[in-house]
Amino acid sequence: MLSHAYIGLGSNLDDPLTHVERALGELDRLPLTRVAGASSCYASRPVGPQDQPDFINAVAHLETRLSPLSLLDQLQALEQRHARVRQRHWGPRTLDLDLLLYDNQCLHHPRLRLPHPELANRAFVVVPLHELAPSLELPGLGALATLPGWQDAGDLRALLP
Ligand code: AMP
Repeated sequence: MLSHAYIGLGSNLDDPLTHVERALGELDRLPLTRVAGASSCYASRPVGPQDQPDFINAVAHLETRLSPLSLLDQLQALEQRHARVRQRHWGPRTLDLDLLLYDNQCLHHPRLRLPHPELANRAFVVVPLHELAPSLELPGLGALATLPGWQDAGDLRALLP
């Protein structure tokens, strides 16, 4: 069955814009998957420690026949291929891929929570997601347009294509 998934992409090391753009191409080449749409790229201040570079963020809409856990496996393998380095929690990283939504599924699995637990609170997720799907309803969370993450939307900077 064809499913719709939304992926949050983030990077703040080693030419972050290139990592995000490369990752969009790699998502399109995942098995049984294609990128149906991608938001603009945004620059955001880091969550947590401030002595690190700004992040580049975007959201991709995937059409996929992978199960949620198989898709997570593929995302984690892709992060590894970008030589993701994690020195500390909320520290800098070359590529972070979050599975934000998978159809209307709510899931509490030890490896995977759906919707992504921080989705609602992060401007760098809700703003690009809104660009792709303005009338989206999120399972258990309600309308995208009403989420708390909008409070910090003014801190985001859209990058020109
Ligand atoms: P992060 O620091 O965001 O890279 O967290 C990665 C960890 O979160 C991994 O151990 C995943 O198994 C777990 N995780 C739980 N839910 C999700 C999700 N919706 N998307 C990505 N990782 C998730």
